[in-house]
Amino acid sequence: MHKGKKLHEGKAKILYEGPEKGTAIQHFKDDATAFNNKKKSIVEGKGVLNNRISEHILNNINQIGIPTHLIKRLNMREQLIKLAEIIPIEFIVRNIATGSLSKRLGIPDGTVLSKPLLEYCYKNDDLDDPIVAKEHIYEFNWMTASELELIDSYTLRINDFMQGMFRGVGIKLVDFKLEFGKINEEGKKKIILADEISPDTCRLWDIVSEKKLDKDRFRKDLGNIIQAYQEVARRLGIMHEEANISEVKFGKPKAVELKNN
Ligand code: C5P
Repeated sequence: MHKGKKLHEGKAKILYEGPEKGTAIQHFKDDATAFNNKKKSIVEGKGVLNNRISEHILNNINQIGIPTHLIKRLNMREQLIKLAEIIPIEFIVRNIATGSLSKRLGIPDGTVLSKPLLEYCYKNDDLDDPIVAKEHIYEFNWMTASELELIDSYTLRINDFMQGMFRGVGIKLVDFKLEFGKINEEGKKKIILADEISPDTCRLWDIVSEKKLDKDRFRKDLGNIIQAYQEVARRLGIMHEEANISEVKFGKPKAVELKNN
């Protein structure tokens, strides 16, 4: 597929002009960054896994009626997407306290929250993506109240859906980040989910051992990053080459009965 000029290069992805107006090609890199780019490395294979995992999750989210930017996965590292005007807010959902919430408010790591906690952060690397209140969002015209209401409802539905999906494969969805954008459809502005969802953007713990299966392995130097991402892909059933390999049990051999005619 024809790739146009580079539109933007982020920490983990590159965006190119797509083949048609309003489309883009999103390329997943192997670069790993944390703490607003202060820690950097290359994790070979990460882009390929995030491309597959994100495709799987976004396809499922589309199927529950929430529009996303994903048109289709093109190859190992690229997706064709709808080019959206990104809303400058990161929507963080937390089911269990950890990370910056525990650090900021002194809440013990691992505290299960009574209901999902929604936080809004202003997307601005120079300011380290500061947390903001709804009042800031309205005051600075980042969104209208009805847009925010719609995105809040999408976000909570996505959380319910993903909690169930991950629980079914023995993983706790601790927290995650979403980004939304606006596109023009039939002359109307439409809000769509417009970012990847992967172990780079979620915290995922094994239900039994609480082993971290996400980017915290990189942030905290825990090692085996790619193995953890592979484990997530394998459990979700999207790494067919490995996922389909299972022990085949043959019953006791029986003699074949021959018919006499
Ligand atoms: O660091 P913090 O605890 O605020 O992160 C909450 C969740 O949001 C984590 O799952 C993290 O991976 C995700 N996040 C992200 N991109 C950011 C900030 C947070 O994907 N810029």
